[in-house]
Amino acid sequence: MSDPHLKTPIAGLHHVTAISGPAQENLDYYTKILKTRLIKKTVNFDAPDMYHLYYGAQDARPGSVMTFFNREARGQGQAGTGAAQAFAYAVAPDDLPKWHEALGGTRSTRFGAQVLSVTDPHGQAFELIADTEAGPWGVFHSVTLWVADPVPTAAILTEVFGYALHGEERSTGGRRLRYTLPGDASGRVVDLWVADTPVKARPGPGTIHHVAFRARDAAHQAALRENLLARGENVTEVKDRQYFKAIYFREPGGVLFEIATDGPGFDVDEPMAALGTGLKLPPQYEHDRAQIEARLPVLRAE
Ligand code: ZN
Repeated sequence: MSDPHLKTPIAGLHHVTAISGPAQENLDYYTKILKTRLIKKTVNFDAPDMYHLYYGAQDARPGSVMTFFNREARGQGQAGTGAAQAFAYAVAPDDLPKWHEALGGTRSTRFGAQVLSVTDPHGQAFELIADTEAGPWGVFHSVTLWVADPVPTAAILTEVFGYALHGEERSTGGRRLRYTLPGDASGRVVDLWVADTPVKARPGPGTIHHVAFRARDAAHQAALRENLLARGENVTEVKDRQYFKAIYFREPGGVLFEIATDGPGFDVDEPMAALGTGLKLPPQYEHDRAQIEARLPVLRAE
């Protein structure tokens, strides 16, 4: 369904943020096994006693950025309705067997494409999806949102963000509705998963905290914010996240959505060639750097 007022479709996925277990194990898996690049080592801006590690494609482009709030305590969340269930990378079809061998997991077919479903060491589900148009390694294909009723979530996707229904597919345990953006934006696919037997999501390691969509700039973000407010969505003020500006709202299906700008970018506080090498703190925490560093575990890059 198209909305005549829709002038500013979203530009794809920007980043996905999940909760992991201990930072060192998370770092080892995402850099050594999955071979994404550590592009930022910082702390949770709302809880600076915890690392916030960012991984992405080599060029750290929006639409490739997977981030984790790294909890040192053991524990496990539960994926379920009202949260994103999995993120997925696009992979050249010929590379899928190599990844299957490296990562394990199970193969299936989804909307005609080969899918490798994997679980990381802390229980986070993710996928590699064969895509003939896959770009460099580490760029998102899609994200799957687990909802009880797809209709209100689909309304946000189609009427505010500019997605269109691509199709619906039945598989074991539920049905999947696929929404796509026109063009070739990174992460231009959102799937809604409607399980036959709903399970309520419980936050914790192995679960996705929020999904960030991409606004080209502040004006684009402001227009999207106005559209959401006009529909009665409870959207935050613009927050400065150092590498981008962000607004947040909980979509009607319960998933926390963010809309993040491309700028200023991940090279605002360290050069592109050195991304991820130093512990970066936002200005409000710099004066506490010594105490913050003392509370964080030492991470080995190699
Ligand atoms: Zn975010």
